[in-house]
Amino acid sequence: MAKGNIGVTSDNIFPVIKKFLYSDHEIFLRELVSNAVDATQKLKTLGSVGEFNGELGDLTVRVTIDKEAGTLTISDRGIGMTGEEINKYINQIAFSGAEEFLEKYKNDAQAIIGHFGLGFYSSFMVSKQVEIFTQSHKENTTAQHWSCDGSPEFDLEETIKADRGTDIVLHIDDENQDFLEESKIQGLLTKYCKFLPIEIAFGKKKEWKDGKNVDTENDNIINNTNPAWTRKPADLKDEDYTAFYHELQPMGEDPLFHIHLNVDYPFNLTGILYFPKIKNNIEMQRNKIQLYCNQVYVTDHVENIVPEYLTLLHGVIDSPDIPLNVSRSYLQSDGNVKKISSHITKKVADRLTEIFKADRLQFEAKWDHLKLFIQYGMLSDEKFYERGEKIALLKNVDGKYFTFEEYKTLVGENQKDKNDEVIYLYTNNADEQYSYIQNAKDKGYDVLSMDGQLDVHVVSQLEQKFEKTRFVRVDSDVIEKIIQKDEVAQVSFTTDERNALISVFESQLPTIGKTNFIITFEQLAPTTTPIFITQNEFMRRMKDMSALQGGGGMMNFYGEMPDSYNIVVNAAHPLVGKLLADEEAACSASVAPIATELIEVEAKINKLKDSHKDKKDEEIPSAEKAELEDLQKKIDGLTADKKAIFKAFAAENKQVRQLLDLALLASNMLKGEALAKFVKRSVELM
Ligand code: ADP
Repeated sequence: MAKGNIGVTSDNIFPVIKKFLYSDHEIFLRELVSNAVDATQKLKTLGSVGEFNGELGDLTVRVTIDKEAGTLTISDRGIGMTGEEINKYINQIAFSGAEEFLEKYKNDAQAIIGHFGLGFYSSFMVSKQVEIFTQSHKENTTAQHWSCDGSPEFDLEETIKADRGTDIVLHIDDENQDFLEESKIQGLLTKYCKFLPIEIAFGKKKEWKDGKNVDTENDNIINNTNPAWTRKPADLKDEDYTAFYHELQPMGEDPLFHIHLNVDYPFNLTGILYFPKIKNNIEMQRNKIQLYCNQVYVTDHVENIVPEYLTLLHGVIDSPDIPLNVSRSYLQSDGNVKKISSHITKKVADRLTEIFKADRLQFEAKWDHLKLFIQYGMLSDEKFYERGEKIALLKNVDGKYFTFEEYKTLVGENQKDKNDEVIYLYTNNADEQYSYIQNAKDKGYDVLSMDGQLDVHVVSQLEQKFEKTRFVRVDSDVIEKIIQKDEVAQVSFTTDERNALISVFESQLPTIGKTNFIITFEQLAPTTTPIFITQNEFMRRMKDMSALQGGGGMMNFYGEMPDSYNIVVNAAHPLVGKLLADEEAACSASVAPIATELIEVEAKINKLKDSHKDKKDEEIPSAEKAELEDLQKKIDGLTADKKAIFKAFAAENKQVRQLLDLALLASNMLKGEALAKFVKRSVELM
């Protein structure tokens, strides 16, 4: 028996493997099974070029657990190794510059294993002893038995092995006994080896018999050796693509489209990407692209390999040219990865354009699902915007779809205001904003439906991209003012009349949370609504943005602001005119003397203030200061009296509450008790 020291330049790799590689322990299985598959494929290659003339026979790779012995064994019937080869491939490990590298990547087993070519040695992450039994395919060679207990010392001796190939026997250590559980290994094999190109058997297929699960004769093959992405697109039908999608996403709904990637130059890449039906929630969708390297599963975190918005796609990317065993930060700067990323982006845009051109109706039918993805791409990647602007759609409240160009043609002239700005009207809730939409339609305008998760951002982006165009939500103002064609008519009420009505309405306003209402007047057509609620576009958008971003600073400032709405009173509406007349009839007698007194007091104040104009504060006699203060108090008192009169009138006049409630109702703000009272009052009024 030969004894030797494993050739490493640093003291000992085993403490490193045990100590530093505490994450990702499970990848040892992937490493060993892929070695077995590689050895098998090499033998097949040798056979096909005539360098191996023996019988290939059954090439299945077998994974077995022996609970009693505490071992996990990976067996193949591949090329095997001679003693010389063991010395060369197993006993010599390049291991220079170790300390520095380890310090940097101590949490990244993937990187360490790749860097040092430690695939086989990763078995020591879970084993107290590892044995190799191997018989080379070469004629006139003897089988070898290699054994190592995790010290730099190994034993190598000749042995007898009936069959060609290699058995790797892991004596699982005490801390890792879970790797002797069948369900655990089954899970790991499914995760990492599901699409390896050589059949992998893990025990026997089970059958339900006499109330329990029993082994059948048949091997439990855990992989599909010929997954769709490795086949030629010409050999695949739509059904095959859909079926493969369900292999990846057993629970998923059918995807919308697929893209088969197939590149050999300047890098190697195959794969299939699917557009899933994206629900209105981006987060749910991520991490459903799996990255493979020659059919070996690597990761489902591809965010450094494809642009972020593409991580919404599902599917498989397989490339030996993506450096797998490197840290994630390195990936982003890698030239190949950059090329791959832009290739995929281009393919995705090409495919979408192709579908758009070939079958516009199908594209429209799927738009609601595709929209989030395309918008996300356009928002986050200028290049994708340039492709996307030709196919992205706008949908109006009647369910009609338009490209940007088409929509511009539709509304460009009709919705131009007096400053030559085109106003794109939109709603984010066609039910709640129904009456506003109707008002806009009555004017012959079109209203877009912008109710998606990203539409707030899309609206800002399009405003920047389109010339002389503004997006305004239908309920942000009177339609006549949103698209202002010519000067708006002057409100016919005097200041006193307005103030009286403001007091009347304000006295009856409900308190709704932190909401703030401001009463304003417009001279609109007598046939439109007497009173309604609007919310300033700018303020509302700032609040929406701050809600989405949750950030600090200026955005936070807007988020903290109370909701502020305008209650717009149409001065030209007969109901408003009547209310004013009623108010005057009921209040003028009692308001008149107060008004007269107010005028007198105000005159006094003005006179006093006039006489103080050129004086410094200290030159004003304190008696006069006191008098001013008294007069001011008087004004406050009189104003309060006046308001009380209006309030008393308003409280008795059912129409005031009724009008306010109608406005609130149209904006979906009348709820609970207020709504119940409204219903009751409506019945009474009838
Ligand atoms: P890598 O696979 O990255 O080269 P490993 O440490 O996993 O690194 O393996 C080192 C070498 O040992 C392999 O390149 C191969 O030559 C040999 N080897 C490992 N496992 C087997 C096996 N099951 N059959 C034949 N040779 C093997």
